[in-house]
Amino acid sequence: MKHQNPGCGGGHDDPAQPLHEALARITAAIRPVEGFECVATRDALDRVLYAPVHSSVDVPAYSNSAMDGYALAGAGLPTAGERAFRVIGAAFAGHPFAGTVGDGECVRIMTGAPVPDGADTVVMQERVRREGDDAHIGAGHRPGDNVRMAGEDLKAGAVALEPGVLLRPAHLGLVASLGIGEVKVRRRPRVAFFSTGDELASIGEPLGPGQIFDSNRYTLFGMLTRLGVEVIDLGVVRDTREDLEQAFHLAAAQADAIITSGGVSVGEADFVTETLDKIGDVGFWTVAIKPGRPVAFGRVQGALFFGLPGNPVSVMVTFYQLVQPALRILSGVAAPEAPALVTAVLESRLKKKPGRREFQRGVLRTAADGSYRVETAGRQGSGILRSMAHANCFIVLPEDCGDKDAGSQVTVQPFTGLC
Ligand code: AMP
Ligand code: MG
Repeated sequence: MKHQNPGCGGGHDDPAQPLHEALARITAAIRPVEGFECVATRDALDRVLYAPVHSSVDVPAYSNSAMDGYALAGAGLPTAGERAFRVIGAAFAGHPFAGTVGDGECVRIMTGAPVPDGADTVVMQERVRREGDDAHIGAGHRPGDNVRMAGEDLKAGAVALEPGVLLRPAHLGLVASLGIGEVKVRRRPRVAFFSTGDELASIGEPLGPGQIFDSNRYTLFGMLTRLGVEVIDLGVVRDTREDLEQAFHLAAAQADAIITSGGVSVGEADFVTETLDKIGDVGFWTVAIKPGRPVAFGRVQGALFFGLPGNPVSVMVTFYQLVQPALRILSGVAAPEAPALVTAVLESRLKKKPGRREFQRGVLRTAADGSYRVETAGRQGSGILRSMAHANCFIVLPEDCGDKDAGSQVTVQPFTGLC
Protein backbone atom coordinates (compact mmCIF):
# COMPACT_ATOMS: atom_id res chain seq x y z
CA MET A 1 0.00 0.00 0.00
CA LYS A 2 1.24 3.43 -0.82
CA HIS A 3 1.06 6.14 1.79
CA GLN A 4 0.55 9.62 0.51
CA ASN A 5 0.73 12.68 2.70
CA PRO A 6 -0.19 10.79 5.86
CA GLY A 7 -1.85 13.97 7.05
CA CYS A 8 -0.81 15.56 10.30
CA GLY A 9 -0.06 19.11 11.29
CA GLY A 10 3.61 18.79 10.35
CA GLY A 11 3.11 19.66 6.70
CA HIS A 12 4.37 16.50 5.01
CA ASP A 13 3.43 17.79 1.62
CA ASP A 14 5.43 20.99 1.99
CA PRO A 15 7.83 21.47 -0.86
CA ALA A 16 11.34 20.45 0.16
CA GLN A 17 12.83 22.91 2.60
CA PRO A 18 16.27 24.43 2.22
CA LEU A 19 18.84 22.90 4.55
CA HIS A 20 19.31 26.03 6.66
CA GLU A 21 15.57 26.21 7.35
CA ALA A 22 15.39 22.54 8.27
CA LEU A 23 18.36 23.00 10.59
CA ALA A 24 16.84 26.06 12.22
CA ARG A 25 13.60 24.15 12.86
CA ILE A 26 15.37 21.13 14.25
CA THR A 27 17.69 23.04 16.51
CA ALA A 28 14.87 25.23 17.83
CA ALA A 29 12.96 22.09 18.81
CA ILE A 30 15.74 20.52 20.89
CA ARG A 31 16.63 20.92 24.57
CA PRO A 32 19.73 19.34 26.14
CA VAL A 33 19.27 16.07 28.03
CA GLU A 34 18.94 16.38 31.81
CA GLY A 35 21.44 15.02 34.27
CA PHE A 36 25.14 15.19 34.99
CA GLU A 37 28.00 13.20 36.43
CA CYS A 38 31.31 14.07 38.08
CA VAL A 39 34.34 12.73 36.25
CA ALA A 40 38.11 12.97 36.63
CA THR A 41 39.56 15.79 34.53
CA ARG A 42 41.07 13.45 31.91
CA ASP A 43 37.78 11.57 31.50
CA ALA A 44 36.10 14.88 30.70
CA LEU A 45 37.70 14.98 27.24
CA ASP A 46 35.00 15.39 24.55
CA ARG A 47 32.31 15.73 27.22
CA VAL A 48 30.13 18.80 27.70
CA LEU A 49 30.68 20.90 30.81
CA TYR A 50 27.59 21.02 33.03
CA ALA A 51 28.57 23.48 35.76
CA PRO A 52 30.94 26.45 35.49
CA VAL A 53 34.56 25.96 36.48
CA HIS A 54 35.74 28.72 38.81
CA SER A 55 39.33 29.63 39.43
CA SER A 56 40.29 29.49 43.08
CA VAL A 57 43.71 30.98 42.33
CA ASP A 58 45.26 33.69 40.20
CA VAL A 59 46.63 32.31 36.92
CA PRO A 60 49.52 32.73 36.75
CA ALA A 61 49.78 32.54 40.52
CA TYR A 62 52.75 34.94 40.64
CA SER A 63 54.37 37.37 38.23
CA ASN A 64 56.97 35.48 36.23
CA SER A 65 59.39 35.93 33.40
CA ALA A 66 58.32 35.32 29.80
CA MET A 67 61.96 35.17 28.66
CA ASP A 68 65.44 34.13 29.65
CA GLY A 69 67.14 37.40 30.63
CA TYR A 70 67.71 39.85 33.46
CA ALA A 71 65.08 41.10 35.93
CA LEU A 72 65.33 44.68 37.19
CA ALA A 73 63.27 47.73 38.18
CA GLY A 74 61.95 49.34 35.00
CA ALA A 75 62.31 52.82 36.52
CA GLY A 76 66.10 52.45 36.34
CA LEU A 77 66.29 51.61 32.62
CA PRO A 78 68.43 54.06 30.61
CA THR A 79 66.65 56.25 28.08
CA ALA A 80 69.88 56.80 26.16
CA GLY A 81 73.32 55.20 26.18
CA GLU A 82 74.05 52.15 28.27
CA ARG A 83 73.81 51.42 31.99
CA ALA A 84 75.56 48.70 34.00
CA PHE A 85 73.47 46.65 36.43
CA ARG A 86 75.19 44.43 38.99
CA VAL A 87 74.01 40.79 38.80
CA ILE A 88 73.19 39.86 42.41
CA GLY A 89 71.76 36.37 41.90
CA ALA A 90 69.67 34.06 39.77
CA ALA A 91 66.02 32.94 39.62
CA PHE A 92 64.98 29.67 37.99
CA ALA A 93 61.53 28.19 37.44
CA GLY A 94 60.80 26.46 40.72
CA HIS A 95 63.72 28.22 42.44
CA PRO A 96 62.88 31.86 43.19
CA PHE A 97 65.48 34.49 44.09
CA ALA A 98 64.92 35.25 47.78
CA GLY A 99 66.34 38.80 47.98
CA THR A 100 65.22 42.19 46.71
CA VAL A 101 66.54 43.89 43.59
CA GLY A 102 67.72 47.44 44.31
CA ASP A 103 68.53 50.36 41.98
CA GLY A 104 71.45 49.52 39.71
CA GLU A 105 71.01 45.79 40.36
CA CYS A 106 69.53 42.90 38.41
CA VAL A 107 68.93 39.17 38.71
CA ARG A 108 69.65 36.56 36.05
CA ILE A 109 66.21 35.04 35.37
CA MET A 110 64.88 32.08 33.37
CA THR A 111 61.49 31.70 31.68
CA GLY A 112 58.77 30.89 34.22
CA ALA A 113 60.82 31.97 37.26
CA PRO A 114 59.09 34.35 39.70
CA VAL A 115 60.05 37.99 39.14
CA PRO A 116 61.94 38.92 42.34
CA ASP A 117 60.86 41.68 44.75
CA GLY A 118 61.97 45.07 43.54
CA ALA A 119 61.90 44.03 39.86
CA ASP A 120 59.06 44.52 37.38
CA THR A 121 60.82 44.15 34.05
CA VAL A 122 62.82 41.50 32.21
CA VAL A 123 65.34 42.39 29.51
CA MET A 124 65.94 39.44 27.21
CA GLN A 125 69.44 38.03 27.32
CA GLU A 126 70.12 38.69 23.63
CA ARG A 127 69.88 42.44 24.40
CA VAL A 128 72.36 42.35 27.29
CA ARG A 129 76.14 42.55 27.20
CA ARG A 130 77.68 40.67 30.11
CA GLU A 131 81.01 41.82 31.56
CA GLY A 132 81.93 39.89 34.67
CA ASP A 133 79.30 40.62 37.34
CA ASP A 134 77.81 43.48 35.34
CA ALA A 135 75.01 43.36 32.81
CA HIS A 136 75.14 46.29 30.35
CA ILE A 137 71.76 47.33 29.06
CA GLY A 138 71.01 49.96 26.41
CA ALA A 139 67.97 52.11 25.64
CA GLY A 140 64.78 50.94 23.97
CA HIS A 141 63.26 48.84 26.77
CA ARG A 142 60.04 49.65 28.59
CA PRO A 143 59.10 49.01 32.21
CA GLY A 144 56.98 45.84 32.43
CA ASP A 145 58.53 44.20 29.37
CA ASN A 146 58.55 40.38 29.27
CA VAL A 147 56.71 39.88 32.55
CA ARG A 148 53.57 37.73 32.80
CA MET A 149 51.58 39.39 35.57
CA ALA A 150 49.93 37.42 38.38
CA GLY A 151 46.25 36.90 37.48
CA GLU A 152 46.79 38.09 33.91
CA ASP A 153 45.18 34.93 32.47
CA LEU A 154 42.53 34.57 35.15
CA LYS A 155 41.76 36.30 38.45
CA ALA A 156 40.93 34.22 41.53
CA GLY A 157 37.13 33.75 41.72
CA ALA A 158 36.55 34.33 38.01
CA VAL A 159 34.66 31.84 35.80
CA ALA A 160 37.31 29.92 33.88
CA LEU A 161 34.88 27.84 31.79
CA GLU A 162 31.17 28.30 31.15
CA PRO A 163 28.66 25.42 31.10
CA GLY A 164 28.03 24.08 27.61
CA VAL A 165 31.66 23.99 26.55
CA LEU A 166 32.67 20.88 24.62
CA LEU A 167 35.88 20.01 26.45
CA ARG A 168 38.90 19.83 24.17
CA PRO A 169 42.54 19.26 25.19
CA ALA A 170 43.06 23.00 25.85
CA HIS A 171 40.16 22.95 28.32
CA LEU A 172 41.60 19.95 30.17
CA GLY A 173 44.88 21.87 30.47
CA LEU A 174 43.09 24.96 31.75
CA VAL A 175 41.20 22.91 34.35
CA ALA A 176 44.46 21.25 35.40
CA SER A 177 46.20 24.64 35.65
CA LEU A 178 43.66 25.52 38.35
CA GLY A 179 44.54 22.39 40.29
CA ILE A 180 41.05 20.94 39.71
CA GLY A 181 40.93 17.13 39.47
CA GLU A 182 37.20 16.57 38.84
CA VAL A 183 34.52 18.34 36.78
CA LYS A 184 30.75 18.11 36.34
CA VAL A 185 29.80 17.03 32.84
CA ARG A 186 26.38 16.54 31.30
CA ARG A 187 25.03 13.04 30.89
CA ARG A 188 25.70 11.69 27.40
CA PRO A 189 22.56 11.30 25.28
CA ARG A 190 21.47 7.72 24.59
CA VAL A 191 20.86 7.20 20.90
CA ALA A 192 19.10 4.07 19.62
CA PHE A 193 19.33 3.15 15.96
CA PHE A 194 18.05 0.46 13.67
CA SER A 195 17.96 -0.34 9.97
CA THR A 196 14.76 -1.11 8.12
CA GLY A 197 14.44 -3.39 5.13
CA ASP A 198 13.42 -6.94 4.23
CA GLU A 199 16.52 -7.17 2.01
CA LEU A 200 18.99 -6.62 4.85
CA ALA A 201 21.16 -9.33 6.34
CA SER A 202 23.44 -8.80 9.32
CA ILE A 203 27.08 -9.84 9.22
CA GLY A 204 27.34 -13.54 10.05
CA GLU A 205 24.01 -14.36 8.43
CA PRO A 206 23.96 -16.08 5.04
CA LEU A 207 23.09 -13.76 2.18
CA GLY A 208 19.86 -14.99 0.56
CA PRO A 209 18.71 -14.11 -2.98
CA GLY A 210 18.09 -10.38 -3.32
CA GLN A 211 19.69 -9.65 0.03
CA ILE A 212 22.48 -7.22 0.92
CA PHE A 213 24.51 -6.75 4.07
CA ASP A 214 23.36 -3.95 6.34
CA SER A 215 26.08 -1.29 6.24
CA ASN A 216 24.16 1.66 7.67
CA ARG A 217 24.36 0.36 11.21
CA TYR A 218 28.13 0.40 10.90
CA THR A 219 28.47 3.93 9.55
CA LEU A 220 25.95 5.14 12.14
CA PHE A 221 27.81 3.33 14.89
CA GLY A 222 31.02 5.05 13.78
CA MET A 223 29.57 8.53 13.52
CA LEU A 224 27.62 8.30 16.78
CA THR A 225 30.57 6.89 18.69
CA ARG A 226 32.79 9.70 17.41
CA LEU A 227 30.14 12.16 18.49
CA GLY A 228 30.47 10.85 22.03
CA VAL A 229 26.90 9.64 22.60
CA GLU A 230 25.87 6.30 24.10
CA VAL A 231 24.82 4.00 21.28
CA ILE A 232 22.08 1.38 21.40
CA ASP A 233 22.08 -0.86 18.32
CA LEU A 234 18.61 -2.35 17.79
CA GLY A 235 19.52 -4.36 14.69
CA VAL A 236 17.47 -4.82 11.53
CA VAL A 237 13.70 -4.34 11.54
CA ARG A 238 11.48 -5.83 8.85
CA ASP A 239 9.27 -3.73 6.59
CA THR A 240 5.96 -4.34 8.33
CA ARG A 241 3.84 -1.88 10.27
CA GLU A 242 3.80 -4.18 13.31
CA ASP A 243 7.56 -4.71 13.46
CA LEU A 244 8.24 -1.02 13.01
CA GLU A 245 5.76 0.04 15.66
CA GLN A 246 7.27 -2.40 18.12
CA ALA A 247 10.77 -1.15 17.34
CA PHE A 248 9.71 2.48 17.77
CA HIS A 249 8.30 1.70 21.22
CA LEU A 250 11.36 -0.29 22.24
CA ALA A 251 13.68 2.51 21.12
CA ALA A 252 11.66 5.32 22.70
CA ALA A 253 11.59 3.49 26.03
CA GLN A 254 15.37 3.61 26.38
CA ALA A 255 16.73 6.43 24.26
CA ASP A 256 16.81 10.22 24.07
CA ALA A 257 17.01 10.03 20.29
CA ILE A 258 16.15 7.43 17.66
CA ILE A 259 17.77 7.14 14.25
CA THR A 260 16.45 4.83 11.55
CA SER A 261 17.60 4.27 8.00
CA GLY A 262 15.44 3.31 5.06
CA GLY A 263 11.71 3.27 4.51
CA VAL A 264 11.13 7.03 4.40
CA SER A 265 10.38 7.43 0.72
CA VAL A 266 7.02 6.74 -0.90
CA GLY A 267 7.62 3.17 -2.04
CA GLU A 268 5.38 0.20 -1.44
CA ALA A 269 7.06 -0.81 1.80
CA ASP A 270 8.09 2.52 3.27
CA PHE A 271 6.26 2.62 6.58
CA VAL A 272 8.60 4.68 8.73
CA THR A 273 6.92 8.05 8.29
CA GLU A 274 3.49 6.45 8.60
CA THR A 275 4.49 4.81 11.87
CA LEU A 276 5.98 8.06 13.15
CA ASP A 277 2.74 9.78 12.29
CA LYS A 278 0.72 7.11 14.10
CA ILE A 279 2.60 6.91 17.39
CA GLY A 280 4.60 10.15 17.41
CA ASP A 281 4.78 13.56 15.79
CA VAL A 282 6.22 14.32 12.41
CA GLY A 283 8.08 17.63 12.12
CA PHE A 284 8.93 17.59 8.43
CA TRP A 285 10.13 15.08 5.97
CA THR A 286 11.82 16.61 2.97
CA VAL A 287 14.97 18.68 2.77
CA ALA A 288 16.32 20.11 -0.47
CA ILE A 289 19.66 18.34 -0.38
CA LYS A 290 21.24 15.69 -2.56
CA PRO A 291 21.76 13.00 -1.65
CA GLY A 292 19.37 12.80 1.23
CA ARG A 293 15.83 13.73 0.38
CA PRO A 294 13.56 12.65 2.05
CA VAL A 295 14.38 12.74 5.75
CA ALA A 296 11.83 12.45 8.53
CA PHE A 297 12.19 14.41 11.73
CA GLY A 298 9.88 14.24 14.71
CA ARG A 299 9.32 12.83 18.16
CA VAL A 300 8.25 9.52 19.64
CA GLN A 301 7.21 9.65 23.28
CA GLY A 302 9.76 12.26 24.29
CA ALA A 303 12.56 10.87 22.15
CA LEU A 304 13.78 12.81 19.14
CA PHE A 305 13.34 10.93 15.91
CA PHE A 306 15.42 11.08 12.73
CA GLY A 307 14.28 8.88 9.86
CA LEU A 308 17.19 8.87 7.43
CA PRO A 309 17.03 7.53 3.88
CA GLY A 310 18.24 4.00 3.17
CA ASN A 311 21.00 4.68 0.68
CA PRO A 312 24.34 4.40 2.44
CA VAL A 313 25.76 7.73 1.23
CA SER A 314 22.48 9.52 1.95
CA VAL A 315 22.65 8.24 5.51
CA MET A 316 26.07 9.79 6.00
CA VAL A 317 25.22 13.08 4.32
CA THR A 318 21.99 13.57 6.26
CA PHE A 319 23.69 12.53 9.48
CA TYR A 320 26.50 15.05 9.08
CA GLN A 321 24.32 17.90 7.84
CA LEU A 322 21.27 17.48 10.10
CA VAL A 323 21.70 14.91 12.85
CA GLN A 324 25.16 15.87 14.06
CA PRO A 325 24.22 19.52 14.75
CA ALA A 326 21.01 18.33 16.45
CA LEU A 327 22.82 15.82 18.66
CA ARG A 328 25.36 18.46 19.67
CA ILE A 329 22.50 20.54 21.05
CA LEU A 330 20.96 17.47 22.70
CA SER A 331 24.38 16.87 24.31
CA GLY A 332 24.23 20.37 25.80
CA VAL A 333 26.80 22.14 23.64
CA ALA A 334 25.91 25.82 24.09
CA ALA A 335 27.44 27.13 20.88
CA PRO A 336 27.91 24.32 18.35
CA GLU A 337 30.68 25.09 15.91
CA ALA A 338 29.66 26.17 12.44
CA PRO A 339 30.78 23.76 9.72
CA ALA A 340 34.41 24.33 8.78
CA LEU A 341 34.46 25.32 5.10
CA VAL A 342 37.32 26.14 2.78
CA THR A 343 37.44 27.43 -0.78
CA ALA A 344 39.24 25.23 -3.28
CA VAL A 345 39.94 25.21 -7.00
CA LEU A 346 38.03 22.48 -8.80
CA GLU A 347 40.20 20.12 -10.82
CA SER A 348 37.46 18.24 -12.64
CA ARG A 349 34.13 19.29 -14.13
CA LEU A 350 31.07 18.54 -11.95
CA LYS A 351 27.53 17.95 -13.08
CA LYS A 352 24.77 19.56 -11.06
CA LYS A 353 21.14 20.52 -11.66
CA PRO A 354 19.89 23.71 -10.00
CA GLY A 355 17.38 23.09 -7.18
CA ARG A 356 18.95 21.20 -4.32
CA ARG A 357 22.11 21.76 -2.29
CA GLU A 358 24.48 18.99 -3.27
CA PHE A 359 27.13 17.33 -1.21
CA GLN A 360 29.38 15.65 -3.75
CA ARG A 361 32.26 13.56 -2.49
CA GLY A 362 35.70 14.97 -3.23
CA VAL A 363 39.38 14.57 -2.57
CA LEU A 364 40.98 17.74 -1.25
CA ARG A 365 44.71 18.36 -1.36
CA THR A 366 47.10 21.23 -0.88
CA ALA A 367 49.01 22.14 -4.06
CA ALA A 368 52.71 23.06 -4.10
CA ASP A 369 51.79 26.78 -4.08
CA GLY A 370 49.75 26.26 -0.89
CA SER A 371 46.32 26.57 -2.53
CA TYR A 372 43.55 24.03 -2.01
CA ARG A 373 42.62 21.81 -4.96
CA VAL A 374 39.70 19.42 -5.05
CA GLU A 375 38.63 16.71 -7.45
CA THR A 376 35.68 14.38 -7.51
CA ALA A 377 35.99 11.14 -5.55
CA GLY A 378 34.43 9.19 -8.40
CA ARG A 379 30.90 8.06 -9.18
CA GLN A 380 28.44 9.95 -7.06
CA GLY A 381 25.44 7.58 -6.77
CA SER A 382 23.85 7.72 -3.34
CA GLY A 383 24.40 3.99 -2.90
CA ILE A 384 28.10 4.13 -3.69
CA LEU A 385 29.75 4.01 -0.30
CA ARG A 386 33.16 3.58 -1.92
CA SER A 387 33.09 7.22 -3.08
CA MET A 388 32.52 8.20 0.53
CA ALA A 389 35.30 5.97 1.81
CA HIS A 390 37.72 7.29 -0.83
CA ALA A 391 36.76 10.94 -0.23
CA ASN A 392 38.08 13.30 2.41
CA CYS A 393 35.59 16.13 1.91
CA PHE A 394 32.21 17.19 0.62
CA ILE A 395 32.16 19.58 -2.31
CA VAL A 396 29.20 21.77 -1.36
CA LEU A 397 27.27 23.03 -4.36
CA PRO A 398 24.56 25.57 -3.46
CA GLU A 399 20.92 25.23 -4.47
CA ASP A 400 20.95 27.61 -7.42
CA CYS A 401 24.22 26.50 -9.00
CA GLY A 402 24.41 24.34 -12.13
CA ASP A 403 27.35 22.45 -13.66
CA LYS A 404 30.77 23.57 -12.45
CA ASP A 405 33.74 23.77 -14.80
CA ALA A 406 37.25 22.70 -13.90
CA GLY A 407 39.18 25.73 -12.65
CA SER A 408 36.22 27.33 -10.85
CA GLN A 409 36.20 27.94 -7.12
CA VAL A 410 34.02 25.75 -4.92
CA THR A 411 33.22 25.47 -1.24
CA VAL A 412 34.55 22.38 0.44
CA GLN A 413 33.69 20.84 3.80
CA PRO A 414 36.62 18.69 4.95
CA PHE A 415 35.70 15.49 6.78
CA THR A 416 38.20 16.41 9.50
CA GLY A 417 35.67 18.98 10.75
CA LEU A 418 33.01 16.27 11.04
CA CYS A 419 32.71 13.53 13.60
P1 AMP B 1 14.88 2.57 1.10
O1 AMP B 1 14.97 4.04 1.45
O2 AMP B 1 14.48 1.73 2.24
O3 AMP B 1 14.03 2.38 -0.12
O4 AMP B 1 16.36 2.14 0.71
C1 AMP B 1 17.03 2.75 -0.37
C2 AMP B 1 18.20 1.90 -0.82
O5 AMP B 1 19.14 1.80 0.24
C3 AMP B 1 17.85 0.48 -1.19
O6 AMP B 1 18.66 0.12 -2.31
C4 AMP B 1 18.21 -0.32 0.02
O7 AMP B 1 18.51 -1.65 -0.28
C5 AMP B 1 19.41 0.42 0.53
N1 AMP B 1 19.54 0.25 1.97
C6 AMP B 1 18.58 0.48 2.86
N2 AMP B 1 19.00 0.21 4.11
C7 AMP B 1 20.28 -0.21 3.99
C8 AMP B 1 21.27 -0.61 4.92
N3 AMP B 1 21.00 -0.64 6.23
N4 AMP B 1 22.48 -0.97 4.47
C9 AMP B 1 22.75 -0.92 3.13
N5 AMP B 1 21.87 -0.52 2.21
C10 AMP B 1 20.64 -0.17 2.62
MG1 MG C 1 13.68 -0.10 2.45
